[in-house]
Amino acid sequence: TDFATLGLAEPLLRAVAAEGYTTPTPIQAQAIPALLQGRDLLGIAQTGTGKTAAFVLPTLHRLMGRPERAPRGTCRALFLAPTRELAYQINECVRAYGRFARLSSAVVVGGVRPGPQVKALSTGVDILVATPGRLLDHVGTGILRLDFTEVVVLDEADHMLDLGFLPAIRRIMARLHGERQTVLLSATMPAPIRALANDFLRDPCEVQI
Ligand code: AMP
Repeated sequence: TDFATLGLAEPLLRAVAAEGYTTPTPIQAQAIPALLQGRDLLGIAQTGTGKTAAFVLPTLHRLMGRPERAPRGTCRALFLAPTRELAYQINECVRAYGRFARLSSAVVVGGVRPGPQVKALSTGVDILVATPGRLLDHVGTGILRLDFTEVVVLDEADHMLDLGFLPAIRRIMARLHGERQTVLLSATMPAPIRALANDFLRDPCEVQI
């Protein structure tokens, strides 16, 4: 397979080429067409498999295809990650793959001053990359609302479970509206993650790498 056959918009193919990628990895070849169709996805995948591009590229494609503005204090897509480092890394991918797309992104993580995050959210963003605790803080203060969010990705869900983020994730999921696309990625599938998938994914496409 080659990237051009997957159905991604041309500015995304150009960005992928600029990254030096020639062939989609196995998870990309399976996940991207399913996500472009609007399906939910349950992916059992480790880091190093190309899992980030597998969810970032179809999300960018979807948002580019519906060029509406996120209202103040909302995001159109939400990527949840267990750690600050992973959140920044995912945002780097968003910027790289989205370099020819006119979309905005922001990062909301703990351990840093909330002020700049509050400012970034005040205009509304296309893609928000966040850790669950700080995200919920901003939801609690009313700085961020999740009612406009149409794509949600839980990356490294088992790692978020290990860090005690499951209650926060469930509270976040409860605030999202039903008409959304949900992706759950995890290296392992312990029972609480399986249950999370059962509760929040709708007829997901399952890929295992
Ligand atoms: P990830 O599993 O998302 O952490 O990605 C692992 C590494 O693979 C990252 O450095 C990516 O830049 C790289 N990568 C992702 N997709 C491809 C691809 N299709 N071809 C070559 N490298 C890739």
